Amino acid sequence: MSNTFTTIARFNYSSEAQIIKGRLEADGIAVFLSDEFTIDTDPLVSQAIGGVKIKVPQEQAEKAKSILESISKYSLTNEGKTINCPNCNNESVQLFSTINSIKSLLAFLTSIFLRLLPFYTKYEYKCEACNTNFNLE
Ligand SMILES: [Zn+2]
Repeated sequence: MSNTFTTIARFNYSSEAQIIKGRLEADGIAVFLSDEFTIDTDPLVSQAIGGVKIKVPQEQAEKAKSILESISKYSLTNEGKTINCPNCNNESVQLFSTINSIKSLLAFLTSIFLRLLPFYTKYEYKCEACNTNFNLE
């Protein structure tokens, strides 16, 4: 058994990495996050140092990658149903956040300093098939 770790994924924020870590550990994979605390301390360096890395033992890398692939990259409702585009009915819908005003930018930065989730950031869904933006309200 080797002791080398291999990076299988990178995330901009440790919260995303923690979710994936929990999912992989549920399947018995040893997971080690690298640069997690550096990025928690200063989220703005995330891009510069390549994000939070998810590392797993070399011999578990293939299994970990197949679990990652099995996690849907598309958004689901709170009830676990797929979200369909209101324009073309495609399921290739992803959630993204929009910072489109000074007010939301300040709220976003404040929430980073207070280590809160950015409550005032607007979330929208975007259809990958026809590029329509929409929200679910
Ligand atoms: Zn669409």
